[in-house]
Amino acid sequence: MNKEVRVRFAPSPTGALHIGGVRTALYNYLFAKKMGGKFLLRIEDTDQTRFVPGAEDYIKESLEWLGISPVESPWNPGGCGPYRQSERKPMYMQYALDLVEKGHAYYAFDTSEELEAMRERLTAARVVQPQYNSITRTQMKNSLTLTAEEVKARHASGEPYVIRIKIPRNEEVRLNDMIRGWVMVNSSTLDDKVLMKSDGMPTYHLANIVDDHLMNITHVIRGEEWLPSAPLHVLLYRYFGWADSMPQFAHLPLLLKPDGNGKLSKRDGDKLGFPVFPLNWTDPFTGEKSSGFREQGYLPDAFLNFLAFLGWNPGDERELFTIEELVEAFSVERIGKSGTKFDIAKAKWYNEQYLKVKPIDELAAFFIADANAEGFEVPADKTEAIVNLVKGRVTFPADLWKESKFIVSAPTEFDQEIASKKWNADAVKVLGAYAVTLEGFSGPFDAGTAKALLESTAETEGIKLGKVMQAVRLAVTGSGAGPDLMEVFAILGTMEVAKRIRFALSTLTVVA
Ligand code: GLU
Repeated sequence: MNKEVRVRFAPSPTGALHIGGVRTALYNYLFAKKMGGKFLLRIEDTDQTRFVPGAEDYIKESLEWLGISPVESPWNPGGCGPYRQSERKPMYMQYALDLVEKGHAYYAFDTSEELEAMRERLTAARVVQPQYNSITRTQMKNSLTLTAEEVKARHASGEPYVIRIKIPRNEEVRLNDMIRGWVMVNSSTLDDKVLMKSDGMPTYHLANIVDDHLMNITHVIRGEEWLPSAPLHVLLYRYFGWADSMPQFAHLPLLLKPDGNGKLSKRDGDKLGFPVFPLNWTDPFTGEKSSGFREQGYLPDAFLNFLAFLGWNPGDERELFTIEELVEAFSVERIGKSGTKFDIAKAKWYNEQYLKVKPIDELAAFFIADANAEGFEVPADKTEAIVNLVKGRVTFPADLWKESKFIVSAPTEFDQEIASKKWNADAVKVLGAYAVTLEGFSGPFDAGTAKALLESTAETEGIKLGKVMQAVRLAVTGSGAGPDLMEVFAILGTMEVAKRIRFALSTLTVVA
């Protein structure tokens, strides 16, 4: 029988969750669902110096907003808890000691001054990347260079120490990445990473491998920035004796800035004119605020669809997918190797597509709430017509009201630039006659009637309608562009249109 697929998202609570992290979570979620497996979340908070209050709640809320919550997590523990590494602290030491015993790790007593001195020595000798490694460790203070008695004595006196992995010299380490294929690295390029810190906390590398093993993780799907660590992780699985159950790795392509120049970073938030975080975030230390996709008006299903395509594609032309369809279509093999440029225009496009097909009452709810917030009441019998009229023109729910406010509230000011070009004697003539026509009209008034009456008025006046059309729009809406004008007239009704025209006629001055 095949093993149950178990994947995890393992964020560190060091600030707002970056959009790249959300994509990692989504791909894990999709993969788990597709394989009939489980999606877990583990908080990797071993680096207490980088802990940021509120960051964990932010992660939880972001995933909830998108509907991709894990089935096992600190908030909903399964059988492999705890799901916060800080709460698992007591378990790690035994694993580090196991490696020491097997000869794959060692104690190191070097002070920070000694480490600094080593780095300076190597830099002076023109070593490009000074490292604590298979060569330099022979000159340092560790259990490989000290006698057993010395090590014992140092332990007895309570001298601080770390535990480092003993990387072999000149060995080929290979791993078969699900996205990149075989990745091969010579161990001589790796350093003897610290596994256990002097405060008794494991480092990311140790805790991550131990936890993935104990939580029965079958696939590790994570960002490309972790690829350089993967050979070390492979060695750790081997040294622990867990090579047979080592998860399969899939390193996701980087998310790049819109111009393709470098990684899209947390610091890019708002600087580039769009959010890089799912939700609004205020840094608790600096008070700095960053905007989120949710608060900007992105719909969760549209945002998910957009995210899914940042590095993956279904292999055909389709672009619109519900979450269920994404699960169905998803495969790791179709994730690209090269970085994906972040394109906010595409995010907007997705939002527009999803808004267009939203049920009218949901759209109306956004619209009414925004109108009410500004102190306007929308006549109930007009709501649906208004929303239908503008929904094809909006990117965000808030645009529904912005685009149609002029219908509910008659303009008191007019676009001066348009007025200066278009408000001429012909326009005044046609509008004056049209107002009279409307005031005398009874019977059903729809867009077709509004248009027929306007055309016949212009004809009677001997003026080409095309020439005065923008002035007509200006008179009734206050601006030079907007949704279908005759539909607007139909919603307003004859008396309101006539009233607006009369106001414009009395307010605007004719251009020479
Ligand atoms: N804690 C790591 C991070 O913040 C997790 C990396 C991994 O998935 O192995 O990205």
